[in-house]
Amino acid sequence: MPLTLKSASSFIRNLLAWYRIHKRDLPWRRTHDPYKIWVSEVMLQQTTVPAVVPHYKSWLDAFPDIGDLARAPERKVLKAWQGLGYYQRARNLHRAAKSIVQHWNGKIPGHASDLRKLPGFGPYTTAAVLSLAYGQPYPVIDANARRVMRRVLRLHGEANSGQDKTIQPVLEKIFPVRRGAEFNQALMELGALLCRSRNPRCALCPLQPHCLAFARGEQEVIPKPRFRSYRKITAVVGLIKKDGRYLIQKRPDRGLLAGLWEFPGGKVKPGETPRQALVRELREELGVGISEAPLLGRFSHSYTRFRVDLRAYACRLEGDPKFDSRACRWVRLAEIARYPMPSGSARIVSFLMGRRTEKNNLPGRELWAKLAS
Ligand code: SF4
Repeated sequence: MPLTLKSASSFIRNLLAWYRIHKRDLPWRRTHDPYKIWVSEVMLQQTTVPAVVPHYKSWLDAFPDIGDLARAPERKVLKAWQGLGYYQRARNLHRAAKSIVQHWNGKIPGHASDLRKLPGFGPYTTAAVLSLAYGQPYPVIDANARRVMRRVLRLHGEANSGQDKTIQPVLEKIFPVRRGAEFNQALMELGALLCRSRNPRCALCPLQPHCLAFARGEQEVIPKPRFRSYRKITAVVGLIKKDGRYLIQKRPDRGLLAGLWEFPGGKVKPGETPRQALVRELREELGVGISEAPLLGRFSHSYTRFRVDLRAYACRLEGDPKFDSRACRWVRLAEIARYPMPSGSARIVSFLMGRRTEKNNLPGRELWAKLAS
């Protein structure tokens, strides 16, 4: 039966009854603090709940309130975000916190028009903060809620937000104003736990009587499955040690992985071997040649749109490296952890600290200990 105003009350009743029994006990569901809810909602965009929980806790230890976040240096903010990806989200949180402290006396505004002027407050984050923190009647459409509603309404097409303009008015029409926050949470939770992208658990679903995709047996093809092709990149880095310190450098403030720190190196160009790329990169970046550079290990890592085969070499240089001290630093291993790094570089640090056994390490840590001594 298509979702009508008449059937809406049973849709809502079924959904809320299911939610009260099956909802997960998540730390951001135990608070109405707008700052904490805002942080959780930003973290949850494009990141899974299990990955967010430890970051959410450590973030609030580092920045217990919005003033702490606004006053923090950017390096500390990016470091706290390390592992969540999409670092622009952390930068926007930081910039918005500064603006809220400056213009709103540290209180997150409770009006959509004010929120939308702040960095990072798109339609989703704005609706989530207004609904979940301030109890205002805004439907929240995240990827999970969107998938549920697309199936319930039988909206074919690819997984993207293009059909929110069809979903939004339906949700506005049936929205239970007095239990709006709970309704929003319930719809998102049902999408995460039952109405999953693959193998939706329709037999357990309280919305089954209302779901047109289920009625037509189309729940596996709505939304249309996307076949993602990863770009593969090979990159090389040189581990250079002097007086117990490693040379690391900061990426440019704009572009991919902006502002993060990494070991010197770069991408292998077409027609180059990895070793030729290492020689070229260190010559370009540090103005120096390499006398010896055995391969220590390969540290592959998948980012959202590409996969990097990152190869780390223990380098002895032919002379002293030349560099701009604003973008490069000699840092002790124990201090490197304070610098925000892309995940591949963080894995190399982990390896150097002896914390991680990489599967396909070549000569590995023993060789490094010998070379670096
Ligand atoms: S019946 Fe199946 S496809 Fe429809 S909302 Fe429930 S889990 Fe999703």
